[in-house]
Amino acid sequence: MKKIISIAALICLFVCFSNAKNFYTNGSADIKKVALTFDDGPGKATEEVLEILKEKNVRATFFMLASRVEKDIEIAKKVAAAGHEIGNHTYWHVNFYSYKNNDKINEIEKEILSAKKVIKDKLGIDTKLMRFPYGYSKSDGLEVAQNLGYHVINWSFGMDWENIPAQQLHKKYKQAIKNGAIFLMHDLPKNEKMLSFLREFIDEIRSQGCEIVTVSELLNLGQK
Ligand SMILES: [Zn+2]
Repeated sequence: MKKIISIAALICLFVCFSNAKNFYTNGSADIKKVALTFDDGPGKATEEVLEILKEKNVRATFFMLASRVEKDIEIAKKVAAAGHEIGNHTYWHVNFYSYKNNDKINEIEKEILSAKKVIKDKLGIDTKLMRFPYGYSKSDGLEVAQNLGYHVINWSFGMDWENIPAQQLHKKYKQAIKNGAIFLMHDLPKNEKMLSFLREFIDEIRSQGCEIVTVSELLNLGQK
């Protein structure tokens, strides 16, 4: 019996460990730093986001959809030229939680690799960070990502797609400011609720004594 329990404990330890080592939702609670991330672009809000980030002297992390990069290559280049960090958000934004075909692992790999190639070819950037669509974080996806050399980054807070009044949304983002936070926002839709708030949000984060850094800086992952 003891043997079975210890084997079970070992398996659990292995599974937990293998899930955790390339997967992050936040940085250290001991350091006064947070990261802003923007998903699904380049898109309709990207240029306005870039203007605000420039005005506020903030570097952010953009998880780009490669199918969008191909459509809006000039905007994608502007993001890179402004010195922001660029991560892989796959090619087509497939929801792997509901993916039923038995070629799932191959499909996950294809989605990551095709996006990696587009971002490398079009922007000259080797991506090391990725975020699955819908925050997919099951062990099969994390393992594929890890084998391809990726850190998978989810978020500690994000709800800019929710159908709630702007004021309420802004309040919730402000309440979620804490050491190590990774905030999720979107720059593909016009996203007025987020755009009208971004300046104020940056000011609020700083007024609480937190520095705004890229995800790799927040997590000490060594990518500039
Ligand atoms: Zn997305």
